[in-house]
Amino acid sequence: MILKEEMARQKAPPLGISYMGLAWVGPALIKYGTDAQKAEHIPPILRGEIQWCTGYSEPGAGSDLASLQCKAVRDGDDYVVNGQKIWTSLAMWSQWMILLVRTDPNAAKHLGITCLLVRMDTPGMTVKPIKEMNGGTMFAEVFFEDVRVPVANRLGAEGQGWDVTKDALANERSSIGDVWALKHRLEGLKELASRCRRRGRRALDDPGIRQRLARMETQVEAMRLNGLRFLTKQLRGEALGAETSINKLIRARVEIESGRLARDIEGTYGVLAKKSPHAIDDGKWQRVMLGWPPYVIGGGTPNIQKNVIAERLLGLPHDAP
Ligand SMILES: Cc1cc2nc3c(=O)[nH]c(=O)nc-3n(C[C@H](O)[C@H](O)[C@H](O)COP(=O)(O)OP(=O)(O)OC[C@H]3O[C@@H](n4cnc5c(N)ncnc54)[C@H](O)[C@@H]3O)c2cc1C
Repeated sequence: MILKEEMARQKAPPLGISYMGLAWVGPALIKYGTDAQKAEHIPPILRGEIQWCTGYSEPGAGSDLASLQCKAVRDGDDYVVNGQKIWTSLAMWSQWMILLVRTDPNAAKHLGITCLLVRMDTPGMTVKPIKEMNGGTMFAEVFFEDVRVPVANRLGAEGQGWDVTKDALANERSSIGDVWALKHRLEGLKELASRCRRRGRRALDDPGIRQRLARMETQVEAMRLNGLRFLTKQLRGEALGAETSINKLIRARVEIESGRLARDIEGTYGVLAKKSPHAIDDGKWQRVMLGWPPYVIGGGTPNIQKNVIAERLLGLPHDAP
């Protein structure tokens, strides 16, 4: 945490290749992994040598993840996996995947799920990149056809996949709710507002813009303080849970608002992107405008975070009256 803060203060690039490994695969391995799995995977994660990807979502299972259908059938010392995943971030460049499969189609849907660790070069796996609205290609569909995964690569017990995922998702939401990138974003927006003119004066002197910057600063500070509560919990050895949805939800709001705010600060220049010679800061803020989905939809949509907060933190009833 200290290293991350210091790197962010220096505006160093984020933790890059090891991001998923450090944020949620490693912690899941520490909690559920065998000694052999920990010895194999933790050191390369810490050394930043291995890229992990996360195979949860399927075409028919996103918010309702427990409905997943990708199945694994035991055959001797292997599981044989068939099915499809989608929206798998960084799958094209990963060496390993943390994968959720259905091992018991007859069990209650949360109980029939198992977590496997899969090498991305296993025969029978096909990765098809998906083009995004900003022109980039960051995630992919992954298809499994009779993919054999050793039973030794199962993380946790058979049928324990949902418990593994709940912990991993809390860590994912806590990492998405991380505040340091947003602090830089906020500073950048203030600096942009001091350069751009709006209604004949600096955008920074416009009361509407000032109010929006102040609201964002308040949200980012609330996230920072909430993040310290998570840290305290972790230092006490307690698992993170539903509370991580708060920062994930605020991050979604700040992500969307920062793109809109930049557009309003830039005024008519706000519609010019990278290739235009007139684009402000070479279209940096337009990339922010189009770059919100990983933070807003990835790790669970805002609606799902609100459901979690309502039911698990506020104790509100599951069904509307
Ligand atoms: C950039 C990006 C990166 C991603 N990376 C990964 C990854 O690496 N690995 C991975 O497995 N997945 C990844 N995802 C997938 C992501 O987790 C899912 O897209 C997300 O969980 C939503 O699922 P869905 O797309 O199937 O939408 P749906 O679940 O079909 O949701 C559609 C809409 O219905 C709403 N909705 C659904 N259920 C409810 C409910 N119960 N109450 C209220 N509203 C509801 C949702 O909020 C949403 O607005 C990524 C997604 C994005 C955009």
